[in-house]
Amino acid sequence: MVIDVHNLNFSFGSGSLTQPVLKGIDLAIRKGEIVLMTGPSGSGKTTLLTIIGGLRQASNGSVVILGEQLVNSNEQTKVKIRRQTGYIFQQHNLLKSLTALQNVCMTLELQRDLTESERQYRAQQMLAAVGLEDRMHYFPEALSGGQRQRVSIARALAGRPKIILADEPTASLDRQSGHDAVEILKQLAKELNTTILLVTHDYRILDIADRVVELEDGFVKAVEKQE
Ligand code: ADP
Repeated sequence: MVIDVHNLNFSFGSGSLTQPVLKGIDLAIRKGEIVLMTGPSGSGKTTLLTIIGGLRQASNGSVVILGEQLVNSNEQTKVKIRRQTGYIFQQHNLLKSLTALQNVCMTLELQRDLTESERQYRAQQMLAAVGLEDRMHYFPEALSGGQRQRVSIARALAGRPKIILADEPTASLDRQSGHDAVEILKQLAKELNTTILLVTHDYRILDIADRVVELEDGFVKAVEKQE
């Protein structure tokens, strides 16, 4: 399993202000699987993503990501997991002052094993893979919403992460561009054997999933197999 969460409990606050958010989550995701997570607003989906990505610390239960236990882990382990995880957000979060190509290159700067020209080449390849070979030198404001989200998909995958965590990536897009963007994400993830956990309220994209899980009131309520 790439993601193996067992009996995870998580609360915000302390003392009389404690607010339990996750109340015993069990979730196991295999390598290369694409899992969509739905559920009402406030049910803990984003909180769960941040724990799995090593951005938030849990102290109860078990969260084994890529073979590393994140519960009560040290900073080094969390950094290791963060480096192997790519994020896609609701808003594309691109830097306005950089072109599409520069935005993708920037994330590759952490990859010390690549030379500058290898980074450029990799970024160009990724932008071509999301259908933006003719938009590489455009600034974000000159791109449509769907194109910007495709740049953020290229950026998230450029470092060849083992896991992609996506938080409502189609929420700011119209139906067609949202569907196109996640379809591209799915194809690339399958080619690169990347595991995806994607939070969404968008029932129109459920068809890209290998599996859909629903979070409700801090529990994984239902697991639905896709045909
Ligand atoms: P979802 O992504 O399913 O909408 P969240 O994980 O964002 O749910 O939030 C779950 C619950 O935790 C909500 O009640 C929310 O108000 C609360 N919460 C989220 N982030 C924080 C925070 N940083 N501090 C305190 N409470 C928070």
